[in-house]
Amino acid sequence: MERWNYVIRNAKLTGARSVDIAIKDDRIADIADNIAETGIEEIDAHGQLVTVPLVDAHIHLDATLTVPERTTNHSGTLLEGIQRWSEIKPDLTVEDVKTRAREAILWEVAHGTLQIRSHVDICDEKLTALHALRELKDEMAELVDLQLVAFPQEGVLCYPHGQELMETALHEGADIVGGIPHYEWTREDGIRELEYVFELAHREGRMIDVHCDETDDPESRFVETMARLTKVYEWEGRVSASHTTAMHSYNPAYGFKLRRILRQSDMAIIANPLTNVVLQGRFDDFPKRRGMAPIKELDAYGIPVALGFDCIMDPWYPLGTGNLLQAAWMALHLGHMTGAQEMERVFRMATVNGQSVFYPGQPNDLVAGRPADLVIWDAPSAIEALRLLPVAQTVMRHGHIVAQAEPSRHQVYYQGQNLTVNFRPRTAR
Ligand SMILES: [Zn+2]
Repeated sequence: MERWNYVIRNAKLTGARSVDIAIKDDRIADIADNIAETGIEEIDAHGQLVTVPLVDAHIHLDATLTVPERTTNHSGTLLEGIQRWSEIKPDLTVEDVKTRAREAILWEVAHGTLQIRSHVDICDEKLTALHALRELKDEMAELVDLQLVAFPQEGVLCYPHGQELMETALHEGADIVGGIPHYEWTREDGIRELEYVFELAHREGRMIDVHCDETDDPESRFVETMARLTKVYEWEGRVSASHTTAMHSYNPAYGFKLRRILRQSDMAIIANPLTNVVLQGRFDDFPKRRGMAPIKELDAYGIPVALGFDCIMDPWYPLGTGNLLQAAWMALHLGHMTGAQEMERVFRMATVNGQSVFYPGQPNDLVAGRPADLVIWDAPSAIEALRLLPVAQTVMRHGHIVAQAEPSRHQVYYQGQNLTVNFRPRTAR
């Protein structure tokens, strides 16, 4: 009798090692050069890359799929996006949010993402979006792990009943404490908001993920306050700062100081390159800034960097299919990370680093004993995955196949011949 439910053979790991992977029930049971016993199902990966799933560490599922039908952002700025969204918010219904978010989650799973951290706007007396996503989290648990962040899109101190709404949101299904200090009216209020966020997270025993310094203003320096509070509350390893685009504009001396205290406080940075390259630099003449956190420098300094898709067809970003590999591809370009090892680092940001942010302290890569969540890519290596943006051929969740896709194939008709082109050089990397 077969001992394993699945054996995936001839699987390439990111270190170029070729292995077999045995799966028993919902777990990876063994990873070895050759697994002798057969599985009930045998899958030949044909030397393609097999990795942990992509992690979308930052998205706004409540706003997803609202353009172009309901709104358009004419200036392209973050602030007009917030204004357009606040006009849609009163009309939200639980069913409407669920329908749109469910669709977006299906797209993300099809692309190989099985962990999604969604910020949910709690600046709404009815908390409609939170109630919708809380229901969806349970309904879609067989497909995806969803973390919900109580996100005060319109501020905590400058929004009526902001603190009450944050606390209600945590008691009604939000998992993580969010924030937006740069949106408060003054720097002092921004610091007070962060002090409140940390006090609340500490009292409730929650992780923290704050939209922080999402501006081109080099004077916006709330990440340093987050680092300090992380030490004060001994919340190391449980705190992420998202966006942090002002870092792009800091002078080198301050940038160095900041990286040092970020590492000491064991904070993670979550960059959202697709949305931020569009939203930032809108007040610049030429040259226009790129507006992404300096991921290469952060990564080189040992600070965990993860990636988010942030927006799919919403008031901040009108495009997108939720393919996190596109975000990684953009991050690679904006961050000047084109060296071979650098590209592999970017792939890690989209996969294992995201796993660490999502499940702190747990194994973040394919190892025996970990849940059998994995992706077989239509590419032989991490670098090729970033070049080709291949389909996720097989997506497995807790030992079950939850998505499959056919590799794309192209025919070119030339001199009476029918030539197959798949964009692979004869000596594939
Ligand atoms: Zn965001």
